[in-house]
Amino acid sequence: MSAEAPPDHPQRFDAARWSDASSRESLQLIAASVAQMVGFEVAVISAVHGEHLVSVAIEGDADVRATLDGMLTPMANIHAELAVADDWGRFKFVPHERALADDDYRWIPDIAPGSDADSWHPMDALLAPLYDEDGELRGLLSIDLPISGHRPDPTQLGLLERYAAQAERALLNALERDALAQRLRLSEAARQVVRFAVSQADVEAALDDCRPALLEGYRADDLTIRTYPDDTVGSGGTPSISVTERVRAQVRELSHACWGQQRVGVLTDDWFDDTLLDEHIARTLIRVVVDLGFRSAMIVPIGAGQRCVGHLILFRTDRAVPWTRDERDGALDVARDIGHAVLTSRNLAREQRLVSELRALDTYKTRLLSTVSHELKNPLGAIAGHLELVGATPDLSEDTQFSVSAMTRATTRISRVVEDLLTLAQLEDPETRETGTALDLRPALSAALESVRFAAERRQLLLRLDAPDGPLPACGDEEGLERVLTNLLGNATKYTARGGAATLAVTYLDDQVEIAVRDQGIGISPQDQERLFTEFFRSTNPVALAEPGTGLGLAISSRIVSGYGGRITVESELGEGSTFRVLLPVPTP
Ligand code: ADP
Repeated sequence: MSAEAPPDHPQRFDAARWSDASSRESLQLIAASVAQMVGFEVAVISAVHGEHLVSVAIEGDADVRATLDGMLTPMANIHAELAVADDWGRFKFVPHERALADDDYRWIPDIAPGSDADSWHPMDALLAPLYDEDGELRGLLSIDLPISGHRPDPTQLGLLERYAAQAERALLNALERDALAQRLRLSEAARQVVRFAVSQADVEAALDDCRPALLEGYRADDLTIRTYPDDTVGSGGTPSISVTERVRAQVRELSHACWGQQRVGVLTDDWFDDTLLDEHIARTLIRVVVDLGFRSAMIVPIGAGQRCVGHLILFRTDRAVPWTRDERDGALDVARDIGHAVLTSRNLAREQRLVSELRALDTYKTRLLSTVSHELKNPLGAIAGHLELVGATPDLSEDTQFSVSAMTRATTRISRVVEDLLTLAQLEDPETRETGTALDLRPALSAALESVRFAAERRQLLLRLDAPDGPLPACGDEEGLERVLTNLLGNATKYTARGGAATLAVTYLDDQVEIAVRDQGIGISPQDQERLFTEFFRSTNPVALAEPGTGLGLAISSRIVSGYGGRITVESELGEGSTFRVLLPVPTP
């Protein structure tokens, strides 16, 4: 076993699938012309394919074709042959005395050797190496069995030279088209993987959808994809092949090593890369590959960034089809795309789980709020009723009267909190939430002003309404709007020092109506403004804290208004005052 390359192993090569039909035809035409025009029975054009030479155009009888078609000749044999050949210009001639002893890879004509000095001997070989622009050997033009029975004369050699040049151009062209076709297949596979990977949150389904594209693009006979579990998300994949836990762990280790070196791992039935694997593990894995009915496998690590998150294994039953450089590099690119898709989908899964946990928590909170407030409501009603009875009892001592009043005030405050909690729970339930209809704002404005009038008078505050004459159309519901405006005006009154003023101003904008509640009170800090509409928020400002409150009023108000398709904004400066703006849609006439 070696780290360099898979050893030679004769198998069959399928020339009919090589390059494209028109390239194959033109090579065949050249081979036929050489034979006919120069006077030989056999002309073969072959191409270097990995570690072998394969025939891609054969001119000759059925026997020649049966022998050479699909044959893989080790390149070592070709190099050995060329090393001992006579130099005839483009052509190299190997006289029968120097022919290699190993003749498994040749077609030998069934003729008797002639007696002349220049007679053609069945073991003679005449071949023209075909090179690319970089001087690399890419194929051969070989001819055999001259009709004359003699070695070619100078005229024939001149003609042969020209055909060799033609064969060289045609072969390079065909090889280029073969590489192009392969790259096209691979990029199509990669494109499909990316398309599936980005279009689906469910990465397992995406991997499944990639199978046909990968099998086709890599001319693989089977494949298996597996993603490794991470801390929170389990493993997955489309394993069409089942192996033991121990083998899976070994593949996983190999995949990590491959990802570390940013390369793929190739195993064949009798070869492995010993820079990646120790011999014992390699033999186990090879046995698994062979037992599964395959002859070679390419292990492609799937990863993103530093992390290897899975593996893709492509299998081939035909060991003669090597995993080309383009395929190996392309597979790594595809695995990177899959890696990104795996990580993206895992992040998505994590987010979705978090969202559903938060939702469950929210539902639980709403249920708790509503249950607790319902359970408190009835006993509170009973306490309030009995306090009223006790308070009405004649001849109560002054102390008792004082206690009854204190208990009544406390009960009223608790009832208000319970009422607010119930409203909040109702607002969070889409079934009980008001969405609003067309109405006139004026009754709600008047009711709000009326409900804070007493408190305002006590603090000697000036309350002003600034609104256009006539009806004030808006979307909402009477009760909800009254609650919102009372809360905002109540706050304006509560958080403004004696002798100040609070204004309610109604302005029509394009398709909205704005109700501004302006005060000259203590103002709200920028940090507090950010959390103003969250439940139970109360300012850190000691002046504000001195006033009684639950921190639920604004949370309720903003939910009511957003139910109508509107919103509440705030503008405030500490010590200067605040403006709360309720923006509501205006109904279309
Ligand atoms: P409550 O007034 O019952 O505490 P709210 O939700 O109505 O609850 O208000 C939340 C907090 O916002 C208040 O505790 C107060 O600190 C601050 N706040 C609301 N309105 C004003 C205002 N007009 N001026 C100053 N601070 C305000």
